[in-house]
Amino acid sequence: MTAEAPHDAEVVVVGAGAVGLAIAERLARTRSVLVVERHEGFGRETSSHNSGVVHASIYYETGSLKHRLCWEGNPLIYEWADTHHVPVRRCGKLIVALAEEERGGLDEVWRQATANDVRGIERLTGEQARTLEPHVPTIEAIWSPSTGVVDAAALVRSYESAARDRGALVVYQHAVVGAERIAGGFRLELRDANGQRSSITCAALVNSAGHGAPNLAAALGYPLDGGGHEGIEAPVFRQLANRGRYYDIVDPEVARMISRPVYPLPEHQAGGLGLHLTVDTDGGAHLGPATEWLPEGASLDYRQADEAEWRARFLAAGQRFLPGLREDQIAPGQVGYRPKIQRPDQGLVDFLIWHDRGYVHLGGIESPGLTASLPIARTVAEALG
Ligand SMILES: Cc1cc2nc3c(=O)[nH]c(=O)nc-3n(C[C@H](O)[C@H](O)[C@H](O)COP(=O)(O)OP(=O)(O)OC[C@H]3O[C@@H](n4cnc5c(N)ncnc54)[C@H](O)[C@@H]3O)c2cc1C
Repeated sequence: MTAEAPHDAEVVVVGAGAVGLAIAERLARTRSVLVVERHEGFGRETSSHNSGVVHASIYYETGSLKHRLCWEGNPLIYEWADTHHVPVRRCGKLIVALAEEERGGLDEVWRQATANDVRGIERLTGEQARTLEPHVPTIEAIWSPSTGVVDAAALVRSYESAARDRGALVVYQHAVVGAERIAGGFRLELRDANGQRSSITCAALVNSAGHGAPNLAAALGYPLDGGGHEGIEAPVFRQLANRGRYYDIVDPEVARMISRPVYPLPEHQAGGLGLHLTVDTDGGAHLGPATEWLPEGASLDYRQADEAEWRARFLAAGQRFLPGLREDQIAPGQVGYRPKIQRPDQGLVDFLIWHDRGYVHLGGIESPGLTASLPIARTVAEALG
């Protein structure tokens, strides 16, 4: 290793998603920051393929990063949205029991939500719930008034613009294809859209590459399944993708029957919160996301064909919430991919935010990563000192 200072940037953040850009905005307050992104624009992967729900921190293990950072992030997202003109709706959400045998599951969710000190939650009878969502045949519900929906694309755009205002440079169409430690920092090898290679150096490196995070860790020599590396015990970085398909409610009259997200009981082992009904800030209504584990290394295709089997599944799930829903009122919508450290047979696994000598690794930043983006950024800034 040779001494190599000054570096091109004090910090390089890999990945211009919601989390990488929130981190860049935070770090650029005190340091020179360069964001490197392989696509031609920001938020092209997970940050633009999600439900946009501002979560209230209901489900996560008490004291976990997901619990604490989501709980902290919930009011911060509303505050940020208000000051940065990002469309947001504080509409609340219902978690509903639609059959007698689901009441016990609702008790479990309630226990976790109260342990997590979720703001303002209430138990509602079916009748009370139906005053909020008259078309859903709820028999009992949990009401979470602090849940809302945000325009995720506008949120990411506002993070990018705020990071630039603070002096961060954002470089698109450059993929990080190699990385090594050098004296006092890191050297990264980049490849642009024309295949041209270049390299940059930095004192600190934040790996916020979403689905690309394990590859970058591997380039630095970390074992993906955890274990010793240069005398440091590393955690598990290996990720799987869990596909979340949506179907949209394409009949505007049916979409108008719903005013807020309505969730069934969660399906943590399947990898999600149960196929639910969401609304967006424009009044659109969607069913999803479903859960589907993909084999490791599977390519992530963001297009969705209209497969009969999925249409039938979505219709059946949709009819539980809106019994009169017809097949011609739904159509395939977006597809998102959850980056999972969790394995198919496991319950919820926490976010991974891990620091080793100037390297910060963000792993498994699935939901509620959008809601927690600002506190995640604070946590990364604290890790870097
Ligand atoms: C179906 C679904 C629904 C969700 N719903 C919600 C919700 O309602 N509420 C909520 O709070 N959260 C939700 N989430 C989670 C939320 O969307 C994510 O936590 C968040 O968007 C993650 O942001 P990110 O910046 O970490 O990742 P990404 O947005 O994926 O950004 C990572 C970036 O890194 C880039 N990159 C990767 N490798 C390289 C490389 N080698 N070189 C250069 N660039 C690279 C990628 O191109 C990408 O742009 C949902 C997620 C999914 C999948």
